[in-house]
Amino acid sequence: MQNKVLLILCDGMRPDAVLKCGHPFAGKLMSTARYNPHAQTVFPSWTLPCHMSLFHSVDPSEHRVLGNTFVPGERKGLFEQLRDFGKSTSFFYSWGELKDLYDPYALCYGHFVSEEYFPHGKVTELLEENCEKFINEYKPDFAFLYLETTDSIGHEIGWGTEEYYKAANHSFGIIEKIMSNLPEDYSVIVLADHGGHDQTHGTEDPIDMTIPLFIKTDFEIDEENFENANIIDVAPTICKIIGIEPSKKWKGKNLLK
Ligand SMILES: [Zn+2]
Repeated sequence: MQNKVLLILCDGMRPDAVLKCGHPFAGKLMSTARYNPHAQTVFPSWTLPCHMSLFHSVDPSEHRVLGNTFVPGERKGLFEQLRDFGKSTSFFYSWGELKDLYDPYALCYGHFVSEEYFPHGKVTELLEENCEKFINEYKPDFAFLYLETTDSIGHEIGWGTEEYYKAANHSFGIIEKIMSNLPEDYSVIVLADHGGHDQTHGTEDPIDMTIPLFIKTDFEIDEENFENANIIDVAPTICKIIGIEPSKKWKGKNLLK
């Protein structure tokens, strides 16, 4: 039974990048996992509000983080829910603002690599290596791997550019590496937090709001819910896989049966 979860988020990865990045593993994942190329994120489609909605399973109007500056508040997120049920958690990331996604006491292991200090490719390599090693040695119930390259290149050069698809290609290389050395009892969810256009995102336009969503699991998919998937559905789905109750405060639906 695949009742542990590896969640991989590619910041700013649009669904067209899955098709156009040219990495063979992107094609392999489309055929071996369940794939929804038109899942939806929340508005405003900025990185921190989208991550807050992913982890707290509510719309930004409820968690009240409406930009990339954190706003403290009374909230119950996935990390805290997992802690309350005695589950082990880990988080591998490179964007400092994500430190506010969790209560420090709810995280068993955190690994941060500064994207200000290391070049893009090196950041994701260091995160992947450490995440892979930690998973194989300690087998946490939940691991979250954050990959920033697609968003950084989007802002620097532009969404939909050759360099952007190259960044997506690099990300799928990282995803392939970690998934090919993953213990058998892991389900994997791969998604983005938002899309992007020109050199920005944040709008209500479908190009910013539509995200790719992969689920590779031996649990049965709820077809209707999966077809209408939203980023707020991910936390309850992870709880279902790990075998704990979702928080009663959450609004997302479970994507599995
Ligand atoms: Zn961004």
